[in-house]
Amino acid sequence: MKKALIIGCGGVASVAIHKCCQNSKVFEEICIASRTKSKCDALKEKLQGTTKTKITTAQVDANDVAALIALIKKVQPGVVMNLALPYQDLKIMDACLATKTNYIDTANYEPEDTAKFEYSWQWAYRKKFEEAGITALLGSGFDPGVTGVFSAYALKHQFDEINHIDILDCNAGDHGYPFATNFNPEINIREVSAKGSYWENGHWVETEPMEIKRVYDFPQIGPKDMYLLHHEELESLALNMPGIHRIRFFMTFGQSYLTHLKCLEDVGMTSIKPINFEGKEIIPLQFLKAVLPDPSSLGPRTKGKTNIGCIFRGKKDGKEKSYYLYNVCDHQECYREVGSQAVAYTTGVPAMIGGMMLLTETWKKPGVHNIEEFDPDPFMDALNRWGLPWQESFHPDLVE
Ligand code: NDP
Repeated sequence: MKKALIIGCGGVASVAIHKCCQNSKVFEEICIASRTKSKCDALKEKLQGTTKTKITTAQVDANDVAALIALIKKVQPGVVMNLALPYQDLKIMDACLATKTNYIDTANYEPEDTAKFEYSWQWAYRKKFEEAGITALLGSGFDPGVTGVFSAYALKHQFDEINHIDILDCNAGDHGYPFATNFNPEINIREVSAKGSYWENGHWVETEPMEIKRVYDFPQIGPKDMYLLHHEELESLALNMPGIHRIRFFMTFGQSYLTHLKCLEDVGMTSIKPINFEGKEIIPLQFLKAVLPDPSSLGPRTKGKTNIGCIFRGKKDGKEKSYYLYNVCDHQECYREVGSQAVAYTTGVPAMIGGMMLLTETWKKPGVHNIEEFDPDPFMDALNRWGLPWQESFHPDLVE
């Protein structure tokens, strides 16, 4: 029986779990395990009866490797899908190693006390996973995730050599709040308040946060302001795309979001340094998370679309060529289908597909790998089939 153990039961996990249940030929059984078991039980209650997938639930603290090992031994899954937070990646990888179980996640490891993310910690497990004969698939969300699959697909089918990649992430959804984040606020704010950077001619160029702004006219959305950020797939694509000269990542932000963020930063509310408050130690950013709207509550209120994709420039048969691959996703359609907004949807669907690739052994490569290292074709087919159809343009507007 093909079984997955899903760790975490938040916004992204909820979508992935809905999708596993739609795909019960592959996901014959799933175990949903998270810190708060009542959330897993509520989702099980909602979905069982609508699916052939057998659902069980468990409580687990993913910071506790011994508890994870005991759970994996009990469930005996073909894959562990880590949809908790980036802080838990290494502990879950340790438990997968101890039990020789395949692993996927959607975000690279980040230490809780330092706002810094990079692949080095997880890449250090390469040899151990290879020797154990198990596969770790890193970054199977949308960005990272589908952006890497798009890159591998473009290289395989459209180019002899890709020299420039611009990854554009546009969320034109409106949830009606002056300030809210579309996924875990703590992770989101750590990401967008960090310095920006891009890869050019073999080295990193660092920028101040939000220093580089461009306007792009997104298909099916229209012109939006977007800002250059550092993003984790830049690091792996810089290594895995031969002939690459430059990779940049841009994300759209509205003025209200930026004004609120600046103000929160200026007063110290986004800090991750502990402070003493009325005799208790608190972390300002965690307190801010507690007062912000829960991203999982945004689904019914969010209207509009997302457009996430990659613009490639390179050479084919000796000629310069550009090519744009993207997906457009509608917040309200996602909500009608799975009860979540499009940011969780565009992450949860690729997480399910990544789990499927390993569970069916369509992708099997012992070691620790980023998604662009696998054959993109079955993943691209699955995107069309499972709710994230992609579109292509052979004459895209380029980003200056
Ligand atoms: P949420 O905060 O909504 O959910 C996180 C879940 O993990 C919650 O169920 C939480 O439990 C659980 N959890 C947290 N700590 C532990 C622990 N120690 N042990 C067990 N369970 C734990 O986050 P999101 O769903 O928004 O994000 C999930 C992941 O997806 C993040 O890593 C995020 O970075 C990533 N992401 C990736 C994207 C991509 O495109 N690649 C885009 C968006 C997000 P509890 O309910 O008790 O809090």
